[in-house]
Amino acid sequence: MREMIKNFINGKWVAGHGGGTFKSINPANKTNVIGEITRSSPKDIDMAVSAARQAYEAWSQVPAPRRGEMLFRVAELLTKEKKGLGQLVTREMGKVLPEGLGDVQEAIDMAYYMGSEGRRLSGETVPSELPNKDAKSLRVPIGVFALITPWNFPIAIPAWKLCPALVAGNTVVLKPSRDTAVCATRLVEIFAAAGVPAGVLNLVHGSGPEVGEYLVRHPGIDAVSFTGSCDTGEHLEDLCGGMHRHISAEMGGKNAIIVMDDAKLELAVEGAIWGGFGTTGQRCTAASRLVVHEAVYPRFIALFKEAASKLRIGNGLRKTTDMGPVINEPQFKKILDYIGAGKKEGARLILGGRPYTQGECARGFFIEPTIFMDVDPEMKIAQEEIFGPVVCVIRAKSLEDAIRIVNGTRYGLSSSIYTQDVNKSAIAERDLDTGIVYINASTIGAEIQLPFGGTKHTGMGPREAGGRGGALDAYTKWKVIYRDFSGRLQRAQIDK
Ligand code: NAD
Repeated sequence: MREMIKNFINGKWVAGHGGGTFKSINPANKTNVIGEITRSSPKDIDMAVSAARQAYEAWSQVPAPRRGEMLFRVAELLTKEKKGLGQLVTREMGKVLPEGLGDVQEAIDMAYYMGSEGRRLSGETVPSELPNKDAKSLRVPIGVFALITPWNFPIAIPAWKLCPALVAGNTVVLKPSRDTAVCATRLVEIFAAAGVPAGVLNLVHGSGPEVGEYLVRHPGIDAVSFTGSCDTGEHLEDLCGGMHRHISAEMGGKNAIIVMDDAKLELAVEGAIWGGFGTTGQRCTAASRLVVHEAVYPRFIALFKEAASKLRIGNGLRKTTDMGPVINEPQFKKILDYIGAGKKEGARLILGGRPYTQGECARGFFIEPTIFMDVDPEMKIAQEEIFGPVVCVIRAKSLEDAIRIVNGTRYGLSSSIYTQDVNKSAIAERDLDTGIVYINASTIGAEIQLPFGGTKHTGMGPREAGGRGGALDAYTKWKVIYRDFSGRLQRAQIDK
């Protein structure tokens, strides 16, 4: 009998009341079950929220530097466990091992970064307009958070939320994706081993519409942090708006690389391969559109197709694998449907387009690296997030035309330009309407010390990750203090 993966409520590992279990499977081999996970019922969520509420009073009073020290211990434990956790990421989610290890490294970086915020968490001290009076702003915690996370960064994204939420003094209930429930559980084990007090961090497993939505609607929740698809995020924004509940949501992307006529083409091709097919195209920042200047269009396509056709597909644990499977059967079918739609719309399929079933890959959800050229920017495949190894190449007449194409979707997460011309890069930097812009680098590879997120339908509320305008804005609220020590009534704006 396989060990059951349990919920973590009030400092204890407990089976849910939803009856039975669901399975998390290896997308590289459907017969390989990674874990059997307990099913939760509303009762479990009630218990988790109640534990988080009870723990809030004491945790929010712990000095922030002490809360930060706990994150340093998390970082140390993650570093110690990095190899095993990275392998687990690859087995449960499918990305190749170097990327699985990178997923854990992001969590380590975030734990150190947010741990040191325990000694900053700064507000402002400003002069008062009146004598014998001082004025300052403080960051204070918001309360109990519902954290809802996707499967594509199964360690990093939960850590991106847990670290700032906890250092700021909030308590949380985490509901991770069903597809990567084992990774989330191992991460929570590490937080528990680092000394998180009972009730401060709770974990409940289950489906989004049942467990996730019940949690978001729960009257004991003060705020929600969500990462996932636009459909889910917009639905949760509606719900939270109606309940006057804080929500920050990071959602999909339709990111693009511009390749200008003066670009170093080999470098641009490397960036396009990494952005388009890294993580099998399953990054919110994946480069799913390449907008190429007409002067270099044929040459770029020849080089890009050649490089993509050399990618080796397989189990991400093998050293020889460049690209792993996609996450699950519904996603596998959805990607193939998009490929069908692209053909129907008249885009030219020049590489891939089929499931990849050679050898052991027949047992997993593998799809060939797929390239469409002569894609019209208005086509469905150029507008909607596919979240798989499918790249659309679009021709552009000029820099202005390219920027218009890049900005012409409802998303606004990441974009990039390859050019040797400093003026063109400056125009792109100014006019690309995305949360992140790269110059001579691919659309992926954000670092944790700056805010992460997008414009338009990609994001709502404060951004994730570090820096001013980043995660601390999501996990704290402002309190302003005026202290009058003049001993008399002083009236701002009125007394001279
Ligand atoms: P998803 O929206 O299907 O699920 C995300 C999470 O929401 C899961 O835990 C799911 O169980 C939960 N959920 C689903 N319905 C819910 C509901 N009604 N109420 C509450 N919770 C619910 O997304 P996914 O397929 O897991 O992840 C892929 C998506 O995530 C892509 O669109 C990708 O672009 C996006 N993503 C965005 C970022 C970012 O920072 N912008 C990062 C990673 C992934």
